[in-house]
Amino acid sequence: MKYVGAHVSASGGVYNAPINAMAIGAKAFALFTKNQRQWAAKELDTKTIDKWFKELEKSGIQAKHILPHDSYLINLGHPELEAREKSLNGFIHEIERCEILKLDRLNFHPGSHLRKISEEECLNNIAESMNKAIDITKDVKLVIENTAGQGSNLGYKFEHLAYIIDKIEDKSRVGVCIDTCHMFTAGYDIRTREAYDKTWNEFDQIVGRQYLMGMHINDSKPELGSRVDRHDSLGLGKIGWDAFRFIMNDDRMNDIPLVLETINEEIWAQEIQALYDLVEK
Ligand SMILES: [Zn+2]
Ligand SMILES: [Zn+2]
Repeated sequence: MKYVGAHVSASGGVYNAPINAMAIGAKAFALFTKNQRQWAAKELDTKTIDKWFKELEKSGIQAKHILPHDSYLINLGHPELEAREKSLNGFIHEIERCEILKLDRLNFHPGSHLRKISEEECLNNIAESMNKAIDITKDVKLVIENTAGQGSNLGYKFEHLAYIIDKIEDKSRVGVCIDTCHMFTAGYDIRTREAYDKTWNEFDQIVGRQYLMGMHINDSKPELGSRVDRHDSLGLGKIGWDAFRFIMNDDRMNDIPLVLETINEEIWAQEIQALYDLVEK
């Protein structure tokens, strides 16, 4: 069974996310639990928390089909200690918000070396930050997202994800989220049956399918291997519908949140329906 939704707005309060998800026929969703462009956030008050659980129950969506995304400011691999600690504190705060909302996973971009340290040093920083965060929090799985490899962002190769996971002491607390646009622009083709199978067999071998805890379903404006991160609406970009049909009929993607981050939210309801229509009976 597939659980498809979109990264919906939580503006006005986190409880608006399940309301917005329901309005587009989503069975899954992503949200920011705080403003993604600011460090500071108002603590979640009891009224907000109560409303969150009430609306979530009405939506019928389970925690394991919700994929909260952390702030864009956080860089767990930052080359400078002070900035890395600021990121780690922000990250821990995000995990604590997930704990309060009873969410079991948190999606984040691994980090950037900013051309000041090597890829390996940056990956070591990321793993060390994650281990520290895992030590002082509980339950929430840290879900590393693959990236397009734009600028100095790491996580564009399956090997990067595997390298980080290998260094995590408590592997029950780590997972990965694969974004189809990022995967494609990082050079992993999924447009034909052969290419799709080759890419996902590589994923299974290098990362391990047991770590897949969510996906971002996006088409891509840039070409294969361009290392540029620009999403497109499904079927309108360079990936095309076949890849999404393969995903909707692939058991690896059962029971995890499949989240649209496509550029036209006006058509999210149609895109969700179109994806379900691809399921072969
Ligand atoms: Zn994404
Ligand atoms: Zn992206």
